[in-house]
Amino acid sequence: MKVKVSNVNVPVWNEITVKSRIPEELKKLSEIAHNIWWSWDSEAVILFRDLDPVLWKEVGLNPVTLLERMSFEKLEALSNDKVIIKRMNDLYARFKEYVDVKPDTNRPSVAYFSMEYGLSSVLKIYSGGLGVLAGDYLKEASDSNVDLCAVGFLYRYGYFNQTLSMDGQQIANYEAQNFGSLPLERVIGADGQPLVVSVPYLDYFVHAYIWRVNVGRVSLYLMDTDNEMNSEFDRPITHQLYGGDWENRLKQEILLGIGGMLTLKALGIKKDIYHCNEGHAALINVERICDYVATGLSFNEAIELVRASSLYTVHTPVPAGHDYFDEGLFGKYMGGYPKKMGITWNDLMDMGRNNPGDSGERFCMSVFACNTSQEVNAVSWLHGKVSQEMFASIWKGYFPEESHVGYVTNGVHFPTWTATEWKKLYAKYFDASFMYDLSNQKIWEAIYNVPDQEIWNTRITLKNKLVDYIRKQFRDTWLNNQGDPSRIVALLNKINPNALLIGFGRRFATYKRAHLLFTDLDRLSKIVNNPNYPVQFIFTGKAHPHDGAGQGLIRRIIEISRRPEFLGKIIFLENYDMTLARRLVSGVDIWLNTPTRPLEASGTSGEKALMNGVLNFSVLDGWWLEGYRENAGWALTEKVTYQNQEHQDQLDAATIYAMLENEIIPLYYDKNDDGYSPKWVQFVKNSIAQIAPHYTMKRQLDDYYIKFYNKQAKRFHVLADNKNAKAKELAAWKEAVVDKWDTIEVKSVSVNGESGKLIIESGQDYDVEVVIDEKGLDNAIGVEIVTIIVDKDGKQRIYSTDEFELVKKDGDLFTFKTKYSLSNAGSFKVAFRMYPKNIDLPHRQDFCYVRWFNLGV
Ligand SMILES: *Cc1c(COP(=O)(O)O)cnc(C)c1O
Repeated sequence: MKVKVSNVNVPVWNEITVKSRIPEELKKLSEIAHNIWWSWDSEAVILFRDLDPVLWKEVGLNPVTLLERMSFEKLEALSNDKVIIKRMNDLYARFKEYVDVKPDTNRPSVAYFSMEYGLSSVLKIYSGGLGVLAGDYLKEASDSNVDLCAVGFLYRYGYFNQTLSMDGQQIANYEAQNFGSLPLERVIGADGQPLVVSVPYLDYFVHAYIWRVNVGRVSLYLMDTDNEMNSEFDRPITHQLYGGDWENRLKQEILLGIGGMLTLKALGIKKDIYHCNEGHAALINVERICDYVATGLSFNEAIELVRASSLYTVHTPVPAGHDYFDEGLFGKYMGGYPKKMGITWNDLMDMGRNNPGDSGERFCMSVFACNTSQEVNAVSWLHGKVSQEMFASIWKGYFPEESHVGYVTNGVHFPTWTATEWKKLYAKYFDASFMYDLSNQKIWEAIYNVPDQEIWNTRITLKNKLVDYIRKQFRDTWLNNQGDPSRIVALLNKINPNALLIGFGRRFATYKRAHLLFTDLDRLSKIVNNPNYPVQFIFTGKAHPHDGAGQGLIRRIIEISRRPEFLGKIIFLENYDMTLARRLVSGVDIWLNTPTRPLEASGTSGEKALMNGVLNFSVLDGWWLEGYRENAGWALTEKVTYQNQEHQDQLDAATIYAMLENEIIPLYYDKNDDGYSPKWVQFVKNSIAQIAPHYTMKRQLDDYYIKFYNKQAKRFHVLADNKNAKAKELAAWKEAVVDKWDTIEVKSVSVNGESGKLIIESGQDYDVEVVIDEKGLDNAIGVEIVTIIVDKDGKQRIYSTDEFELVKKDGDLFTFKTKYSLSNAGSFKVAFRMYPKNIDLPHRQDFCYVRWFNLGV
């Protein structure tokens, strides 16, 4: 027998978490730590900090790790500290009072799906605005006590931490998260074992553990595939947010959609409304159709129910921002679904195509979301317009301005983003009902009763805090990556809380134009180096690891910030996250945003600034187009002067410099004998009183109910009641219309009794009559006359639509009449349009059959 060189098998590692032994007296702390409620309750955060301020910083403000890392002796000492125990008991009483309230069942219930959630820096399951929005939404759902639950991913690595090399190159560090040290809980199944959801991927299953984050009263369920039940190809599905290749992205979206629905099923959860935050989760509707079909409904019946209860929120203003999958790749994992849905493979592909039947077209997740959701909404008024254009080709036959695509402008969660100092000030001067009525402008107007000095002092306190934070937090980082200690010291000394501080923080996507300020460096140098009126700019943000141009922008800003004339005047802070964002949006004087219009769908960081008395200086894009008020901030005009982006950038930059030089800086330094600028304070008050109330998450949540959830839930139940009777009826009606559609005949069109011509004089009324043979359908058709104009840039726009009235029925012949007139002379185009008509349809695009005809029939 030959002795082998070695004989070793591969270890099977079991994940174990050693729970710290928390003394009985302090158990309540652990309970609070496991509900992310602490993150928006200032007192809770302060209590955790006071347990051990040094360790609190070290553990990155994570109370679960804090309790875990404290020695048993330290915990015992605390459990004998009467003051701490009293504070804990008071906090716990408030916490229990909050979380124990049962959800309001008078409002429709909602299941919410999103690829990312920004709840706290501690939970690295977000990358930027989309995630923070979703996180804020859950917090407000909790505060407003609505019946909502959410589904997402627990990423092993999450989004990256950013560091910079010596020359300003972004380095992305992915740190594995230890789930046991996070404020979440594993979901346990009925058998006492960790709950596992098994998701079919054509010919095998991917198995996910389920975790729950308690967001106040709301549950967020997170799936995690990084476990030993899965192959090495599937464990990484939930490794990184927006990482991996297209195949991994598809696997993620299958997990989020199909797996998300299976998770809710495993937990026995059913809701009235299914809300897709961005298109990533659209495949929930595949699973939901399958479920209805499994109960015996046809596909056509099932989709009536699914559509009625689905809302899709789009966040992207450009087609390139959507996810597209090649047919081969999509079929590799989704090939088994058409059969379960009761349709063919081509039918399913066509549901994701702008042009059904075009076999060259890839499957677009957003198109699928549009086709399976009754309602679609954008995230600001302007983005609504842009989205109507962007999706127009899905609903051919209608013009963008006729589209049902609506909007709800994004807001922010007040308790999360408002500094403690401001919360105290508001509590002192505002009506006691304020915290339950956050979007009520009447209450906010009490800001005008606050003494100017108090406003100014609050701002100064927060500016000092920011500067302290930068000095403490970034000293070591910069010593590490800049290698010149004397320069770092000079830099730190130059940061000046008395300067006018201007902040710019967001993802470094190129459309955000972080470079704009650096268009004319001489002029910028004059602005920041004016000894009487010092100005400093603070930049921060991450670029996506695949975005070379975005990383180039960071390098350029770093390079400029190190030039002698800009040292300590242009400052870049690494690793923008929610903690840094909170400091920044409360600690600067002005929040700057310079996107290329109309690419900022909404933007929210400027809204966070509002709540903290920070003034916005921004392009009239996204929310600011709606929010801007005179004497309450500054707006860069919305006019596009140049088609060439470079020329436009130059013009916009010149405007920024001029506004800073002529308006903004003089206003800030127009100080009185008491050392503050009364005019500036007036701007702050105007901004708080007139703008802030409309950009709270409370207003956003209420808008979703008023504009979408309420009416959708009502219609869904009408369709679903009596064993889905109405859904079946509507599906049968649609089938009958489809069956006859191509045979329906327009028998005649006449104007004032004559057929074949339409000569219109302005101001005259004309009797127009149309006769249609509906071929056995019973009054299923509507008719209208559509008048359009062609505007300067060659775009066709609706001028008017006049609906006909049914005046006579004779067998299959239906006669329609209307009075037509045009009040203006000019050049128009006119055509007739027929469409299926039924009061049970929510809108025309729900059954998008359109036939155009004209005088000659
Ligand atoms: C609020 C926030 C964002 C979103 O900022 P926008 O201005 O909407 O781009 C991005 N990242 C973080 C960390 C935030 O807190």
